[in-house]
Amino acid sequence: TVVVVGSVNIDLVVHTPLIAPPGQTVIATGSGTGPGGKGGNQAAAVAHLGGACRLIAAVGPDFDPSTLPGVDLSLVRTTAEPTGLAVVMLDPSGENAITVVPGANALLSPEDTGSFTGPPGVLLASLEVPLPAVTEAARAAREAGWTVVLNPAPARALPASLLADVDVLVPNEHELAALGAPDDLIAAGVGAVVVTLGAAGCRIHRPGDVRTIPAHPVQAVDTTGAGDAFCGALAWALDTGRDLDTAVRFAVVAGALATRAVGARAALATAAEVTAQ
Ligand code: ADP
Repeated sequence: TVVVVGSVNIDLVVHTPLIAPPGQTVIATGSGTGPGGKGGNQAAAVAHLGGACRLIAAVGPDFDPSTLPGVDLSLVRTTAEPTGLAVVMLDPSGENAITVVPGANALLSPEDTGSFTGPPGVLLASLEVPLPAVTEAARAAREAGWTVVLNPAPARALPASLLADVDVLVPNEHELAALGAPDDLIAAGVGAVVVTLGAAGCRIHRPGDVRTIPAHPVQAVDTTGAGDAFCGALAWALDTGRDLDTAVRFAVVAGALATRAVGARAALATAAEVTAQ
């Protein structure tokens, strides 16, 4: 089983000719809403691959469970706060400006995240929820013999106690800059650092070993959510018993396939699709 700890958001995407500068008003050309949040997206990726996935998250009364088919939602807590909201301003060049209202995500607590049970699998966590919730999840998972995968997004520095509980850290280059050098992270107890590089693939850092895995070539339409698809696929592949190199190669293909359509969950791959590439 993959247990995902992270945010659930509703994404409001506003298509605008120009991202409004402060104090100005712009008439948009259209808008749309869709399910989002790093936790929700990562859980959706695991379920799409066919994996058993349980999500630990905090949502509002407005949460629609049908947005996460195939995901065990028994540990999703409904709070009085509304579900998180991401307002995404998108201009024709693909440039964006995003404001996130945490809402219920801000209420995710160590009590929510520290009590999952079952045979050891993979914990996948990200940082759009309060750090104490993530730290407790990683501590409990490590204690119970689970593999801990942390996607440190959005970027922030992390306490040494959390780093010591992480088996695989998956930052992009921007997030890595906030964390420090891979060698220092490994010295702090991280098992391996997998740096995602967008269209350049990714780099695996392990003690005394660095290797680059090239991207899987695709005609990318929208790279939103590629990182979440990558993380979900990596966690699922590790949960099936694949070694890190094999799991990363699998995730590279899954991340590439996720860019085939507009929207974070619009082009998620099945395991058969990934394996066929
Ligand atoms: P994030 O969205 O978190 O910044 P990246 O952009 O690094 O993450 O994408 C995550 C992974 O998805 C990459 O490591 C790569 O394997 C895959 N990917 C992303 N963009 C592309 C692309 N344009 N072509 C092929 N693969 C891609």
